[in-house]
Amino acid sequence: MPRKNKAARKAYEKEYREKYPDRVKASREKYQKNNKDKCTAATLDWRRRNREKFRVNQKNWEEANKAKRLRQDKSNRRNRKLRAIEYKGGKCVRCGYSDFAAALDFHHVVNGSKSFSISNSTYKSWDKIRPELDKCILLCSNCHRGLHAGNWKLISELEDRKDGKKG
Ligand SMILES: [Zn+2]
Ligand SMILES: [Zn+2]
Repeated sequence: MPRKNKAARKAYEKEYREKYPDRVKASREKYQKNNKDKCTAATLDWRRRNREKFRVNQKNWEEANKAKRLRQDKSNRRNRKLRAIEYKGGKCVRCGYSDFAAALDFHHVVNGSKSFSISNSTYKSWDKIRPELDKCILLCSNCHRGLHAGNWKLISELEDRKDGKKG
């Protein structure tokens, strides 16, 4: 390796990096593995000294991963909702509608027991969602709206329990 002057050495190193990216990557990974604490400290130090650059880098990374993350979120949400729908019998308890998951709602039957809205909480863990689902019935959007508008009344065991008729 020519070490006569800094510029020549830098040029040589650059050329080497471009010529053998795999070798460079492997040796870097090996070094990082053997010097974990040192590398973490160096990274943090670099971030402290290059706040602006770090911010830009991070923003670029987030930008690049945004689409991927959105797709992932969407599919997680959808799976969670499908699971919840299946758990609640898969169809509107009044009319039997089951065509579109998007047109099925979770209606809280026990007044005042609502801890959170199911539709907004599909990111929560299943263990948290399930007890909440137990306080709900599955309705299609039409029946759900009709119920809230007072067009029909719900007479269920849960509803009775709320009124204290069945303890
Ligand atoms: Zn409702
Ligand atoms: Zn319905």
